[in-house]
Amino acid sequence: MPAIPDTAPRATLETLPGDDVRQLMWGFAERYDLAMLVQSARAVARGPVARLVAAGARNSHEWTASKASLLAAFDESGLTAAYLDPEFGGFLEGPKNLALALIAFELSWVDAGAATCSLAGNLGLAPISERGTLEQRAHYLGLAAPLKPGQNRGQIRAAFALTEPLPFVGVETSLLSGKVRIAAWPEGGEPVLQVEKRGRFITNMAFANVVTVAVNSDDPRIKGSCMIILEEGDPGVFDRGAPARKLVHQLSSTRDPIFNLRVPASRIIGGYTVQEGALVPRYSHAEIIEAVFRRTRVTVGLMTAAKLLSAVEPVILYQRRRFRGGEGAPGTPRYELGLQQKEDVLQRLVEVWATGEASAALGFAAARLFDQLEPLEKEKDRFLAQGKLAGRAAFKALAKAQQEAIEWLRLGRKPKDQRDETRLEALGANPLVRFALLETQANVLCPACKLWNTGHGANMMREAVSLMGGYGVTEDCPGFLGQKWMDAQLEATYEGPEAVQRLQLYITMANELFLAQFGQWTEELRQLAARRPGTGACTLATAMQLWHWTLNHLQTATDAHGAKLYHKSRQGVTFPLADALCWLLAARQFILAVVELQDKGASNPTLAEGLAGGVNFFTDLCHVQCARAAGEVGRICAELVYGFNRHPAWDGAERACYGAEELESLEGVIPGIDSAARVCGDVVEAGQAAPAKAGPCVRFAGLEAFARLRAKLDGCLTGARLAKDRAADALTKVMVPEALDYPV
Ligand SMILES: Cc1cc2nc3c(=O)[nH]c(=O)nc-3n(C[C@H](O)[C@H](O)[C@H](O)COP(=O)(O)OP(=O)(O)OC[C@H]3O[C@@H](n4cnc5c(N)ncnc54)[C@H](O)[C@@H]3O)c2cc1C
Repeated sequence: MPAIPDTAPRATLETLPGDDVRQLMWGFAERYDLAMLVQSARAVARGPVARLVAAGARNSHEWTASKASLLAAFDESGLTAAYLDPEFGGFLEGPKNLALALIAFELSWVDAGAATCSLAGNLGLAPISERGTLEQRAHYLGLAAPLKPGQNRGQIRAAFALTEPLPFVGVETSLLSGKVRIAAWPEGGEPVLQVEKRGRFITNMAFANVVTVAVNSDDPRIKGSCMIILEEGDPGVFDRGAPARKLVHQLSSTRDPIFNLRVPASRIIGGYTVQEGALVPRYSHAEIIEAVFRRTRVTVGLMTAAKLLSAVEPVILYQRRRFRGGEGAPGTPRYELGLQQKEDVLQRLVEVWATGEASAALGFAAARLFDQLEPLEKEKDRFLAQGKLAGRAAFKALAKAQQEAIEWLRLGRKPKDQRDETRLEALGANPLVRFALLETQANVLCPACKLWNTGHGANMMREAVSLMGGYGVTEDCPGFLGQKWMDAQLEATYEGPEAVQRLQLYITMANELFLAQFGQWTEELRQLAARRPGTGACTLATAMQLWHWTLNHLQTATDAHGAKLYHKSRQGVTFPLADALCWLLAARQFILAVVELQDKGASNPTLAEGLAGGVNFFTDLCHVQCARAAGEVGRICAELVYGFNRHPAWDGAERACYGAEELESLEGVIPGIDSAARVCGDVVEAGQAAPAKAGPCVRFAGLEAFARLRAKLDGCLTGARLAKDRAADALTKVMVPEALDYPV
């Protein structure tokens, strides 16, 4: 069969992707309940939320009656109850990470402050939900449900208070100044605690009536730190504090509260035991916040993804109309395409769109992963409890499961006739093995999503704003893009800024089991590249190999002074490497989402017509994203691999780096150039200082493999710009509605 020439007509994107496409790409096509939830969240976002923003409600940081009306909208639409299990008044069975991610996405499409307002209530309850005692869960979660007709009770609205006034808790969560003491301990009765906590930047504080606070013991009769539930109405001071004069997320309330309250010891989250006359909380504050943030950070990552994708339609509308009304008449390119006649604006929008897709794919994949992990985590706990495994014994059992998971992966890759099927099956059925596999992925995907989606996403929001010209930085900008740009920076900051995610990735990305899975993903992408070459999967697989090589190298390499490179204190090494990984993970998830669309879309009659064009377009976007990821990874890895070796030409004099032939030709032209003494190609051990007599261009021994991989990676970029051209062209043809479906 003759090869199809490149110029053959190719189906292209007809309309902007609708719900059917998204349900497949983001993995909830089988979940009618989630499809309905999306509709409810969208109605709130594009109705009351959009109207508030358009009316200028964001111009004040005060909590106003009109902003407070959103709480009722969240309750009535089911968004508040979506967090709760049916036994506590909710309506979704099972894990809810994907559900909450979808709510965050829909609300943030219009305004992430509204999303934060809705989700911060869940964050306030999360310590109780994740680590509370049965009684605490039943009481507080039950009262958080919106009132049913005929019910007459108060409704709990919660806040989460970890951050403290400077110079205390921020990124460093151990610097707690909040204190707990025993105020009274009646004979044979329950101790009464005195809790002092000042908060900084606490969301929902204008109206929260329950606050979960992190405090340290200030009493020898209480061990360590813990989290405690405070209620409005407890004896003492419950001062909501001054509103933060923030420039972002103005549809949520943020204040600096002050608490000094007496509460029963039963408010310690997770309970306590009494040992040798002292209260020992079951969980430290660090253990609780770790359990909470590992889930909630994914939803924050999706807020920024939504902003980027929400920018596509208003930017296209702006571009197309930019030159209408002048000399051009309908039907002329100037009239119909406007700014879209210019290549640059199209290609920049392609980059914004590709980033939005990759970050949404990564975020929703992480949310689905946590939904899978949750029941396994419970199974793991049951298994350990049955075997009476706690402390070191539990740790040993989990370490063994990690090794078994690696063995399972290794066995799975062998041909069927060469492997022990019984062993493979036994390992696959072991709950601890299954838990270890997903847990190590989740430990990377969550910080990666928070870090990359929000950090790089904020940079790309600036690009989106720039495409709207001066309009972009006005309140009138359609799609509220200017506000979304600034809001993205908050998403990169709260629930732990980028540094926190990078610190976590430094540990979790070097985990042996994660790396075994990463190696498998690389192989799978290579196989996928053979079947779907246009996705850029080949480029991505090579970039993943380069990253993995670099990590292995850095773990043993030293710098020119002999100091270890892969170390917690070397953030200049570990942080960029973490960033590079995020680019890879996001691009990979994007490819997987498009493959899912292509594989499953054909069987959906409502999709069949535009499917080929949609898949072609997304395939090109994937390619663009993979090329961009490869570029970032190549740059970062090359800097890290070469950058810590001392250049032999730096012996005091200022010298350029010349090749041998160049040196000869320059001899006598540039003072100090001596080609005989400085022959190019001296070989020096990596990490060692080059000898003084070495030439200006040295090769470092052992790095040839890196250099080969790097060269291969550059070659893998073949066709990436053609893909970008095609995607840009598609933007000139795609049909868009005449107006946004929410107020401008
Ligand atoms: C609108 C808003 C709402 C918020 N809501 C809440 C809430 O509901 N509850 C709550 O408890 N908190 C809340 N916060 C607080 C938020 O989580 C913190 O601001 C955030 O965690 C960062 O702490 P910080 O501001 O003290 O920054 P700092 O700790 O001062 O860090 C500043 C910067 O220094 C660098 N840095 C710090 N430590 C390190 C390190 N170890 N390594 C490398 N770099 C480092 C990073 O670049 C970091 O971004 C909110 C904040 C805002 C602005």
